[in-house]
This record gives sequence, structure tokens and C-alpha cells, in this order.
Amino acid sequence: MSAQIPIAVRDRVSERAKQALDTVAKFVEEDCIPADAVFEAQIGTGEQRWNSHPAILEDLKKKARSLGLWNMFLPKGHYKESPGFTNLEYGLMAEWLGRSRVASEACNCAAPDTGNMEVLAKYGNEAQKAKWLKPLMEGEIRSAFLMTEPQVASSDARNIEMKIEKDGDHYVLNGQKWWSSGAGDPRCKVYIVMGKSDPNNADPYRQQSVIIVPADAPGITIHRMLSVYGFDDAPHGHGHITFKNVRVPAANLVLGEGRGFEIIQGRLGPGRIHHAMRTIGAAERALEWMLARINDPRKTTFGKQLREHGVILEWVARSRMEIDAARLIVLNAAIKMDEQGPKAALKEIAQAKVLVPSTALTVIDRAIQAFGGAGVSQDTPLANSWAGIRTLRLADGPDEVHLNQMGRNENKRGKEVADKIARQKAKTEELFKQYGVTRQELGGNIQATRYGKN
Ligand SMILES: Cc1cc2nc3c(=O)[nH]c(=O)nc-3n(C[C@H](O)[C@H](O)[C@H](O)COP(=O)(O)OP(=O)(O)OC[C@H]3O[C@@H](n4cnc5c(N)ncnc54)[C@H](O)[C@@H]3O)c2cc1C
Repeated sequence: MSAQIPIAVRDRVSERAKQALDTVAKFVEEDCIPADAVFEAQIGTGEQRWNSHPAILEDLKKKARSLGLWNMFLPKGHYKESPGFTNLEYGLMAEWLGRSRVASEACNCAAPDTGNMEVLAKYGNEAQKAKWLKPLMEGEIRSAFLMTEPQVASSDARNIEMKIEKDGDHYVLNGQKWWSSGAGDPRCKVYIVMGKSDPNNADPYRQQSVIIVPADAPGITIHRMLSVYGFDDAPHGHGHITFKNVRVPAANLVLGEGRGFEIIQGRLGPGRIHHAMRTIGAAERALEWMLARINDPRKTTFGKQLREHGVILEWVARSRMEIDAARLIVLNAAIKMDEQGPKAALKEIAQAKVLVPSTALTVIDRAIQAFGGAGVSQDTPLANSWAGIRTLRLADGPDEVHLNQMGRNENKRGKEVADKIARQKAKTEELFKQYGVTRQELGGNIQATRYGKN
């Protein structure tokens, strides 16, 4: 809540955002977290899990809207549809949303809809916005983003093979996609699909296009839903989908042929940081569960409560430090996005994208350990949270790709710093001469002192 805003960023948060932050925190703690288990129960079992629409979620959406907590993710100044918060302000709110399974969707701030809404708001034309952005912004439908394919290494998006071929005033799509998150939900009505419209273009970054596909278009088959460490993530889910001669009006193409790369770059920047922001919240919640467990008077080992064993307090202290440090990395990226736009903030976004899930996984793992067997079971939110956050080291590009890029960029100054160090050494030699002294070895000349000069 607003009293806990890190001092480094406090002056950048408006009074209106501080009030909204307090409202979000209260809504999450008092309404959403208690609703999480009811949501899971309302999804049911078996096939029903992919056909359900938990009533508690619609009630939470109504309440969130009445509190003014709706679409906060669309940043002020960048979108006319924005409710008027900066990325920094939304970052602080998203942290609270990340504590609960239902909170993001209750506020219409859930992935992948947020990224898809940004694509439509930023690159869509007026007709596309009216047909798809409006119902998404109203929370009436949901969406999926289809890029990854099972038959190619998709972290290099140039490998994508889905065919998008022009046929009169339509495009025809053929191919397959997987990890299509959100496709399991019966309310998922639209797919944003990336494929190749010009596979022979000499520029490998101009071969791709992005097109809007209604989820019920003939020729689309959802073959199965993929599990994440055994969790099905229903009703949202992750689909394996094929497209066989799927015809889509040419007017559904976003921005123009060959603009696909540009669009996915624009989409993934903010999306990555939203995940990082929510992940900080999940880490905070894990720390709270750990604190509750280590102070549980019913559970003592070797005559002590867990908090009385030194190593456990060290876990608590390390978790506190690591979360606080990771939060600053996220908020720094958010500020850079606010001031210079997502493109200028790519380095900071990548830092948050890689660092925050690793930090959160360490914290959650400590909490799991503190709970013993209960930690890996369904009796705490920890196992599910760990599984979900582990996927963030893959989703939106694996860590290694981002680290490679960051490493390459950092290494660009390798020659410059080597030259600087050489200049500094040369200056030191000049200073030795100027002051008439010679380099002293620590402890003197061991050969001379021990064995005498020869
Ligand atoms: C839960 C979940 C949800 C997802 N949601 C979506 C979604 O909604 N839409 C969508 O399109 N995709 C989604 N994905 C897919 C995700 O974006 C991809 O899994 C990811 O980009 C990696 O692609 P890949 O699986 O094809 O792995 P590959 O590209 O085959 O990579 C395999 C491994 O190779 C290594 N590697 C790759 N490049 C390098 C490199 N340069 N240096 C060193 N090592 C490297 C990495 O360790 C990587 O994990 C989701 C994935 C998961 C797990």
C-alpha cells in the first residue's frame, strides 16, 4: 500500500495513484485472496474445467469496476484509452494483483489480454478496435496470443512457419501453434496470430505478419491443453492448436504485411514487465506464508519453533533483501518506460524479466522448505505459485536469449574499458617517476629478507 512505496520512487507517485494503490491492496487482501479457493472450486473437475465461468469472478469484476480498478495497465500518455496511471504507478498496483490468482482478471489486467489490448490499441485500426479492443476492455471476452510452434525452436522468432497467404480479399492460414495461453477459456473469442506472409523476403525480419483470427473460425482445432508441472491452469489453459485453411478477411491484418516483428517487439516489452511486477507480489506472499509457518506454535522441532533456528531467520532476512532489491529493478524499468518509452527501456525490461522470476523462485522455495511436506502440496499456494513463476524463465523468451543480448550489449564497452585501464596504469607509472618512489610489494621482498641479498 502507499505507505510502503520505496522511498526512491515515492515522489513520482501521484496522490490519486496512492489512493488507488490503497484500494487495490484492500481489494486483493480482503476480496481476492479469500476468493481464490472458491474460484478453483467453481471450475469443477474433468471436462467441466474447460467450460466453466466461475460466478465469483464476475462478482469480483463488478466490485473492481465500482472501485475504479479497471484496465490500470494501459499507461497514461501512451494510450487515449488509459485510466491515467503511469507504468510506475501500475507497477506498484500489479505487485498486489500478483498476490492472488483472480485479482488480475478481476481488474481486467490479466495476461495475455493486457498485451493483446496493447497491440490493438497501438497498432489496430478503428474497425479492429471497435470489434475486438472494445469488448476486451469491457472484460466481455478474452484473447490469446499465438506465436510459439512445436516443430521449431520458437525463441528465435525468425523460425516461425505458420503460413499466412493472400487469396483475394482474404488471408488463408495453415500451420500449428502451442502454448497458446488462454485458449482454453470458453470466453476466449480472438487470437492474435503471428505467421509468415512473405517467407522469401531477403530481410528475415520482414517475413512475418500479425493477423486477428476469430477463435471460432472454421479450420481451427484445439487438440489438447498442455499442463505446467501437472497444473492445467484451467479454465485459461495453454492450447495446442492447428489451423487448416483458416480464412480470415484481409482487413484483419494488423498494421500491414511484413510488420509482424515490429508488433511483437512492441507487445512483449510491457508484457514482460507486467509479469515481473506481479511476480514481486507472489514473492511477498510467499514470504508472508513463511513467516506464518515459522511462528506456528503447534509446530516445533528439537524443542524450538522454526523461527528460533538461526538458518530460518537468515532465509527471512535474505528473502526481504532480495525482494526489495528486485522491486527496485522493476520500478526502474517502469520509470524508464514512462520517460522514454518501451524501446528505450529494453535493457531495463530485460533485467527485470530475468532477475525477478529467479529471485521469486528462491524466496518461494525457501517458504516451501519451511512448510516441509505441506509446502509441495495443495494445502498452501506455494507449489502452484512456484510452478507458474518457473515458466516465466521460458515464456516471452528464455533467460538465455535475454542474457545473451544483455551480455553482448554490456560487452560493447570491452575495448573502451581496457583502453581506459591501460591509460590509468601508464599514468600510475608516470606518477611513480614524478614522486621518486618505486612500487612496494606487501611484506617487502621475501627473497631478500629471508635469505639475505645476493
Ligand atoms: C506457461 C507458458 C505459457 C506460454 N504462453 C505463450 C503464449 O501465450 N503464446 C506464445 O506464443 N508462446 C507462449 N509460450 C511459449 C514460450 O514463449 C516459449 O516456450 C519460449 O519462447 C521458448 O521457445 P521454445 O519453447 O520453442 O524453446 P526453444 O526455442 O526450443 O529453446 C529451448 C532452450 O534453448 C535455449 N536457448 C535458446 N536460445 C538460446 C541462446 N541464444 N543461447 C543459449 N541458449 C538458448 C534456452 O535454454 C531455451 O529454453 C508459453 C510458454 C509457457 C511455458
